[in-house]
Amino acid sequence: MRVTDRPAFSPPAELLGVIETLEARGFQAWAVGGAIRDALLGHTRTDWDVATDARPEDVRRVFSRTLPIGIEHGTVGVLVPEGTLFEVTTFRRDIETDGRHAVVEFADSIQEDLARRDFTINAMAWRPATDEFVDPMGGRADLERRVLRAVGDAAQRVAEDYLRVLRGLRFAGRFALEVEPETWDALVGGVGGTATLSAERVREELQKVLAFVHPSHPSSALRLYGEVGVLEIWYPEIAPARRDPGWELNLAAVDSIPPTRSLLRLVRWILAPDVAEPRAERAEAILSRLRYSNADTRRAVHLLRHYHPLVGPIDSAAQIRSWLSEVGAASARDLFRLHFAGAKGANAKEKMRYLGHAWRRVHEELLASPPLRLADLAIGGDELLRMGVEPGPAVGILLDELHARVLEDPEQNHAEKLARLARELIELGGLAAGDGGSGGDMEPRDA
Ligand code: ATP
Ligand code: MG
Repeated sequence: MRVTDRPAFSPPAELLGVIETLEARGFQAWAVGGAIRDALLGHTRTDWDVATDARPEDVRRVFSRTLPIGIEHGTVGVLVPEGTLFEVTTFRRDIETDGRHAVVEFADSIQEDLARRDFTINAMAWRPATDEFVDPMGGRADLERRVLRAVGDAAQRVAEDYLRVLRGLRFAGRFALEVEPETWDALVGGVGGTATLSAERVREELQKVLAFVHPSHPSSALRLYGEVGVLEIWYPEIAPARRDPGWELNLAAVDSIPPTRSLLRLVRWILAPDVAEPRAERAEAILSRLRYSNADTRRAVHLLRHYHPLVGPIDSAAQIRSWLSEVGAASARDLFRLHFAGAKGANAKEKMRYLGHAWRRVHEELLASPPLRLADLAIGGDELLRMGVEPGPAVGILLDELHARVLEDPEQNHAEKLARLARELIELGGLAAGDGGSGGDMEPRDA
């Protein structure tokens, strides 16, 4: 292909440094994969991958700072002085595959290396030293026609590695590609095989979809997950929702959340209509299945558990504080973001205005830093014990009651005021140590 047939590539200077270093030692060094694809689409990116005939041990010898990031399949991380890490991978060919793992051996040419890649748009390479551009599978033409096509025999490619089903749907969604019929059949046919993938790989795929940036939207790939049958296998809790008219509205809601908040996008997705199963339980099931961190899982479950009820613009300040205390200040914002996304996805202007008013009220309360947590109380359990409260559950009950009063009226949050209030409550409730306790309205005791 003549050089004039394509735009000039403009990789980062540090990448060219890595490539020149390899070439100076007599090795070939090619920029490959996603960076070439994205450059042809006019997108710039910083993570360019290198393919080379240098063996991993050569690469480790040539560069002073390297990391063995995927050494068993030939990948060495090269750390340049500017701090960027480039992945340099020795040409490979597959000798054995089982749908989940591949046994590879090193190959001698870029052509062989490209032949084992998944889709034509990912199977192009450029050698800066000679300005050669190789595109044996016609990836560039497919890209221009917006077609996703597997390299070689589609069904075979998918059976070699079922992750390619998810990757294919991701690329099709991200670049708005039409899936070529044979490739589509292979993706549909391979969907059952995705059940054998590790949860981590499936989660990483989902995370990449949730991180789509404008002009791509997660909905484009998530919709394909539904069409091909990925939901039934990996997301069964929300699969039935796909037939609900609200499904599309919810996808629009997911899209309206910024990519930097990918966990919120995920939570919004799980909020799919069809409420056969409580939402928080769905989140628990899905995030645990995909081995999300405990922190992420807890956060998602918490948000869905508190999705309803939300406070409104005419609720009293005390009601708003009490709600804030229940959901937590940090989650309050996220809960509003989720509701707002729902309204935006449905283009419900009135609802958006309503939520705007409600949020302003909540925000006002937050600005006053009210004592939302038990720990914010001006009095603690120790003081109550000193006042003679019986150690044990009584302390907690009393603190909760004091907290409720303070949420009602933050002016009460002073040590002396609370001590006085506590004394009253103790008398009322018979909570003091040694008090046989005929029982009060705070802790009814039977028998
Ligand atoms: P992204 O922009 O999401 O990083 P990418 O194309 O760089 O997309 P990577 O997963 O980083 O995708 O992989 C880099 C390249 O390695 C791909 O372009 C593709 O050529 C090849 N590749 C990666 N994973 C596979 C796979 N499972 N099967 C075949 N080829 C793959
Ligand atoms: Mg990549």
